[in-house]
Amino acid sequence: MQDMHEKDLYADIIIDIAHEKVDRPFQYRIPQSLREKLEVGMSVNVPFGKGNTMRKGYVMGISDKTDYDPAKIKNLHSIAKGDVSAENRMIKLAAWLRRTYGGTMIQALKTVMPAKQSVKTLEKKTVVLRWDRQEAEEYYFQCIKKNRKAQARLLKELLELQSLPYHLVTSKLNVSGTVIKTLENQGIIKVETQEYYRNPIKMSETKQEGKNLSESQKHIVREIMADYDKGQRQTYLIHGITGSGKTEVYMKLIEEVVARGKQAIVLIPEIALTYQTVVRFYKRFGDRVSVMNSTLSDGEKFDQCRRAAEGDIDVIIGPRSALFTPFPDLGLIVIDEEHEGTYKSESSPKYHARETAEEIARVSGASVVLGSATPSIEAYYRAKQQKYKMFRLTERLTGGHLPKVYVADLREELKNGNRSIFSMKMQELIEDRLQKGQQIMLFLNRRGYAGFISCRECGHVMKCPHCDVSLSEHRGGKLVCHYCGYEQPAVNRCPKCGSKYISGFRAGTQQIEEKLKEKYPQARVLRMDADTTKKKDSYEEILSAFANGEADVLIGTQMIVKGHDFPNVTMVGIIAADMSLSVGDYRAGERTFQLLTQAAGRAGRGQNPGEVVIQTYQPEHYSVVHAAAQDYESFYEEEILYRELLQYPPAAHMMAVQIFAKEEAAGYELSNKLGNFSKGLPQKPGEMMIIGPAAASIGKINDVFRFVFYVKCGNYDKLVEVKDLLEEEIQKMQLKRESVQFDFDPMSAF
Ligand code: ADP
Ligand code: ZN
Ligand code: ZN
Repeated sequence: MQDMHEKDLYADIIIDIAHEKVDRPFQYRIPQSLREKLEVGMSVNVPFGKGNTMRKGYVMGISDKTDYDPAKIKNLHSIAKGDVSAENRMIKLAAWLRRTYGGTMIQALKTVMPAKQSVKTLEKKTVVLRWDRQEAEEYYFQCIKKNRKAQARLLKELLELQSLPYHLVTSKLNVSGTVIKTLENQGIIKVETQEYYRNPIKMSETKQEGKNLSESQKHIVREIMADYDKGQRQTYLIHGITGSGKTEVYMKLIEEVVARGKQAIVLIPEIALTYQTVVRFYKRFGDRVSVMNSTLSDGEKFDQCRRAAEGDIDVIIGPRSALFTPFPDLGLIVIDEEHEGTYKSESSPKYHARETAEEIARVSGASVVLGSATPSIEAYYRAKQQKYKMFRLTERLTGGHLPKVYVADLREELKNGNRSIFSMKMQELIEDRLQKGQQIMLFLNRRGYAGFISCRECGHVMKCPHCDVSLSEHRGGKLVCHYCGYEQPAVNRCPKCGSKYISGFRAGTQQIEEKLKEKYPQARVLRMDADTTKKKDSYEEILSAFANGEADVLIGTQMIVKGHDFPNVTMVGIIAADMSLSVGDYRAGERTFQLLTQAAGRAGRGQNPGEVVIQTYQPEHYSVVHAAAQDYESFYEEEILYRELLQYPPAAHMMAVQIFAKEEAAGYELSNKLGNFSKGLPQKPGEMMIIGPAAASIGKINDVFRFVFYVKCGNYDKLVEVKDLLEEEIQKMQLKRESVQFDFDPMSAF
């Protein structure tokens, strides 16, 4: 007979509201009817607070014990409708994220389960070619003749693939809804709507086998799979220039792992997730692959996760967040362009995808493969310490040679009477390319750069009233803040001393464009920066216009050095290499080296050899010297010496404690309190070093004051301990108008 008085069971529930104080589990009694069904990780409805309003929460644990008066414990109401049981593994991962990077459990949960609510039946739209091949081809050639570029672009792809996901057509292929409508109205194509999310490319017709791998590619695959089959899991680093065949290796590895019944996650920075890349994976893995990107809605993301959990797909490609795809039996995580700053989350928990991937791999028994042309100092350091196994790919398979690099010393130029922003060498090459009809990319390192307005009499700098940054001048006589969007009319008298000699230091992308047009009126110029890419899709629009030869020169910030390949570009000019050196954080040299190397690598991808001009005020700086020589190894040797000397990551670890406050005085006080608290903690002699507190390098954003102090320590766990103690302190303070965030091994100055 069944026991009528089973012991009560309680569930620890974390309530899904973004409030620091709710960051602890509440206990609820599990009703008899749910005892069998309820699992850790499920989302449930519970009555909360005095009014017993229904709230959604997550089950963090189940137990038969309670510290509270059982009579006062409320009953759990129900399992949230339409919910898919989030895996236990994800909750554990959230706990790891929280412990390793700080922040609240709620924030960590939201990170690993970003799209938790179920949605109505999903619709997925597909663009399908209706006409037969010959007719469609004829129409395609007409489009080319009549210069209907968007129509031609779409038809070209459809001729090859028959059908394409609608979102891919509008986002990555950059064909507007109106163009699709036009073709649809003529009956050339149709838009189909399906109920469930499926990759609609018809793979039977298009599936592409991999290339015959070169010996060095084969070697990598052999080694990694041999380890894999021996049950040995670890992290591998593939150091190889762009075009050296890394992606082909990733795809082969994925194939091998999938053949063993496992799944794979491929991280690619969003900016490099171009149409070409996405289609390349579709062609290889058919409808067993899915792509995650920021244009997907929460519902679509959720659906992707469900498909992954249910074994409907084997491979997911996406940016950082794709890491949390809940595959049942993960075998491989690939991180391409491993050095990219976007792999670090900017909101709490400020996790790094590389380390998080290693944790996920450890728990699920997967291998990790990192790839880069300019590995992060962290990854290279670990490879040197034999913690990672490293492979090199040294030949560019796409043809083309490494470009020739010239360094132009801007101090010399000035001495020789050249006041233009283009050095003599730069001018010579620009003229040459314009004449030959070859393309040019001009790159401005915008980071740390201020197009600021200052008074030449008193030195007053025009600043944003809400943020501690200088305003920059835009065409049309406006002064704009790049942090909060504040705008004001330009001034013609100094607000401080009344002098009329107040003007801008003009060298932004806009100014380069103006100067270029002045000097070379015949040149067709495109510009890509934060201003010209505000509109959705404008990024792809500009790049494809340039790829189609609609301009001679593309001017831009970091954005132009990633992604697309432009075979007709034979010259790259770097207007001022120094801009990122002055930022004053320990990664400035690394970032400059990477940017210069990448920018230089854009020249000479095609038939014609490329040339690069790096303009700089510091031609002797090691990151400029080694980038010009395209010598990663020498750069690394110098950089790591500096990191070791000053105990910066990866030689040691560093935690930034970031304080945000509505009032300056309160922020100052809090940062001192927490700084002193940290200094007072017990430690072995010389174990920790505390720098600051001080106002952050940007002291105010959007009227919120910012302070920071840094704790350096060789031992990561010790830093975690300090963070935990600080969090306890902060909890006690019941802060209302201030908040604190932690950033481990930060990517940039705060
Ligand atoms: P990376 O990822 O290092 O930039 P890719 O894998 O994209 O390099 O390879 C660059 C180009 O070379 C691609 O067009 C790819 O199809 C081609 N490729 C790669 N491996 C081979 C190979 N073994 N044989 C022929 N072509 C290859
Ligand atoms: Zn003045
Ligand atoms: Zn501002």
